[in-house]
Amino acid sequence: MRIQIDDKDFDLLLEYDQIKKRIRLIGIQLNLDFENRIPVFVGVLNGSFVFLADLIKEITIASEVTFVKVKSYNGDQSSGVISDEMDISMDLKDRDVIVVEDIVDTGKTLKYILEKIKAQKPASINVCSLLFKPNIIEEEIEELTYVGFEIPNDFVVGYGLDYNGLGRNFKDIYKAVALKK
Ligand code: 5GP
Repeated sequence: MRIQIDDKDFDLLLEYDQIKKRIRLIGIQLNLDFENRIPVFVGVLNGSFVFLADLIKEITIASEVTFVKVKSYNGDQSSGVISDEMDISMDLKDRDVIVVEDIVDTGKTLKYILEKIKAQKPASINVCSLLFKPNIIEEEIEELTYVGFEIPNDFVVGYGLDYNGLGRNFKDIYKAVALKK
């Protein structure tokens, strides 16, 4: 199915049913790995809010949730310049932290967030990202333990991810149609 958002066309990449099934499996794994640990989920705003909302419903162990907000994208290009928009309000010292990301692209945003969290001296840090573009990663991120789907290097929208602020509300995930040369 093809949709249009702003000036761009997008084709269906991942259906919500598929996403839901994968999240259920990640939830099972997290419940096992963090049994008796009371982890803190740190959602990276804005993109991760839909993923985190579905993921947390699969978590059956005691856990807490907080958020951090940074900005690194302009339209469909990674700007490489990351700025703080909202700091983490919780004390993460000696806590088991699970950073929840919508997508890891170059890895620059994640690296920046991980440095901020490490400065608080948590007991452990793991990253759970719904999407991962393995072909474009520039930073090695050893904390990236849980990945929903590895996807090609396409710009994607839907399920919390936006294009110029639009498209976060779509249930499924869509990829940008490559322009004909
Ligand atoms: P990175 O710093 O890894 O290059 O970019 C990470 C952030 O850029 C993500 O948290 C996300 O907000 C945004 N981003 C990266 N790739 C995409 C994409 O394909 N679509 C959308 N909508 N945002 C993306």
